Amino acid sequence: MYNNIMDDFAQRPRRLENTQRGQVPASRPHVRVVATGGTIAMQLDAEQGGATPAVSGADLVAAVPGIAQIARLSVEEFSNIPSEHMTPEVWLRLAARLNEISQAGDVEGIVVTHGTDTMEETAFFLDLTVRGDVPIVLTGAQRPASTPDADGPGNLRDGVRVAACAESKRRGVMIVMHGEIHTAREAVKTYTEELDAFDSHSGTDLGFVREGRVCFTSEVLPRRHLPLPTSLPRVDIIPMYAGADDAAMQAALGRRAAGLVIAAVGAGNVNRGLFDGIKAALRQGVAVVIATRVPHGLVRPLYAYAGGGVSLREAGAIMAGDLTPQKARVLLMLALAAGEQGESLRERFETSDFQAQKEPLQQNQTANADYVV
Ligand code: ASP
Repeated sequence: MYNNIMDDFAQRPRRLENTQRGQVPASRPHVRVVATGGTIAMQLDAEQGGATPAVSGADLVAAVPGIAQIARLSVEEFSNIPSEHMTPEVWLRLAARLNEISQAGDVEGIVVTHGTDTMEETAFFLDLTVRGDVPIVLTGAQRPASTPDADGPGNLRDGVRVAACAESKRRGVMIVMHGEIHTAREAVKTYTEELDAFDSHSGTDLGFVREGRVCFTSEVLPRRHLPLPTSLPRVDIIPMYAGADDAAMQAALGRRAAGLVIAAVGAGNVNRGLFDGIKAALRQGVAVVIATRVPHGLVRPLYAYAGGGVSLREAGAIMAGDLTPQKARVLLMLALAAGEQGESLRERFETSDFQAQKEPLQQNQTANADYVV
C-alpha cells in the first residue's frame, strides 16, 4: 500500500499548463456572507491595548467599495469571535448552517469571514462535511479593520469574486487571502503577520485572483465527505520533541481522548517515551495517527528502531500522509464519529485516492472567458 501511495505522490502534478478562468456571469450572482469574527472584524481598542471584536458582517461588507457590482450580497451574523475561540461544537453548528444555505438553492456562493489563526481547521472541517457544489470561500485579515492599510476589504472582495465565479464549483472549500486561492486541505498559515499569510502545503496553489480575475491553475479530484455528526469525540494533538515523555499523552487519555494525533518529527518518528505511551494507548483501543511537525512532505514508515515509523505502524498507528497534525485531528474526529475503526480507519488516512487531491486540468477543460469586475 505504501509504495502505491508514494507512486501517486511522485506523480502528483504541480502546475497546470493552462489556467482556468472564471466565466462571466449572466447576472450578478447571489453570495451569502457568513460572518464568524477574526481580525477582519476587529478594531484597535486603545484602552485594552490591542485589537478586539467590534465590526459586524454587514459593516464589513459595507466597507468594501465596489463589492455590490460583483454580486448581490446577503449577510448573516453567525458569531463575532477570534478564531482561537472556535470549538468543535461551533464547527458542527457552522457546517449545519452552511448545509442549509447551500441546499436552499437561492445562493450561488458563500463567503465565511473567519480569523486566520485556525481558519485552516474550520475550512477542512467544512470541506469534509458540507455537501453540494455551491462554492464556499473562507477569508479574513492579518490587520484589524481599524488600521488604515487593513487587508480585510481586499480579501473580502476577492473572496466574493471567487464565491461568485461559476468555475469555483466542485473545487471544495477554499481559502482566499492575499490574492491566492488554496484548497482547504492544503492551506496552512505560514506567517504570523505578513499579509501573505497562507501557503498550499504541496507548494501548488489552486489559483489566484488578480486585477479582478479569478484564475484556477490546478484541479481538485472529487471531494470525500463524511457524515456531519451531532457531536465529536475528543482527539488531542501530542507533540514530539527531544526528551518528550508520555505526560501530555497520559493527560489526554485521562480526559478520555478517543484518538491521538502525534505531531511527530521527520517522516513520522518519536522517541522511546512516546513510543511506549502510544503502544499503551493502542492497547486501550485509542486510535493513534502519526503526522509530522515538519512543514513539507509526507509521513511514511522509514525507520524500524523503537519509535521509528515502521515500528509505529507495526504497533497499529496510522500514517497521516500529507495531513498536518491539525488537519489529521479534524479527519480523525469525523472518522471516529462515523464509527470507523481498524482497517477502515487506516484506509481513510492511508489510501492514495483520499490523499492525492489535485490533478492537472485537461486541456479541453480550459475555460474561455475571464470574470472581470
Ligand atoms: N487572532 C486572530 C484570529 O484568528 C487572527 C486573525 O484573524 O488573523 O481570530
